[in-house]
Amino acid sequence: MNVILLGAPGSGKGTQAEHIEAAFGLTHVSSGDLFRYNLKNQTELGKLAEGYMKRGELVPDDVTVAMVRDRLQQPDITEGVLLDGFPRTLPQADALANMLHELGQRVDAVVYLDVADDEIVTRLSGRLICRECQAPFHKTFNPFDACPENKCHGEHLYQRDDDKPETVGARLQTYHAQTSPLVEHYREKGILLHIPGTGSIEEISERILTAIRAQTAV
Ligand code: AMP
Repeated sequence: MNVILLGAPGSGKGTQAEHIEAAFGLTHVSSGDLFRYNLKNQTELGKLAEGYMKRGELVPDDVTVAMVRDRLQQPDITEGVLLDGFPRTLPQADALANMLHELGQRVDAVVYLDVADDEIVTRLSGRLICRECQAPFHKTFNPFDACPENKCHGEHLYQRDDDKPETVGARLQTYHAQTSPLVEHYREKGILLHIPGTGSIEEISERILTAIRAQTAV
């Protein structure tokens, strides 16, 4: 089973990914995490992506698709994939369909987390990420309680550069211009699960799991 998490930055994709991967045994693949890993290790890919990320723009499709294609070929993906932050453009969606087709697979469900822009701005301004495991927290709404991997005591939390107010507006604009057309694209294919993205983390998680089960009969 292959599932896409679609939604604006800060709509809760990373937070909900943990619940979905646990429930269905999927492998979480976040294109943003892959770019940040490359940036931290100053690889060629990281250096190429850096400027785009800092400006809140998308990294070009050919580079992004090649990175995700490489990740999808790794042996740890056995039960299917939970894609978070990819695809973000229509050409990426087409490339993904082709990649999966070559593997005799397809996208089974697209979870669209729908959150209004003003709520997104509030969420991103308080978001904290663990530098080690990438788990997301929020200063007020989801404060650090325990490390999901039992490895730290919250000492690696930081605010992403691109969550600072000067970049958030640009990221939202990028989302509306380039990514939101995917909502219609997947609705037309009959696999879009429209999930209101406000409420408690547990409520939203329950909505998502119920919708995926209904869509895929798992
Ligand atoms: P995220 O953590 O998903 O918000 O991604 C952080 C940044 O990485 C984005 O603002 C983009 O610059 C870049 N990025 C992540 N995923 C993609 C993608 N699918 N296509 C292009 N750029 C991406």
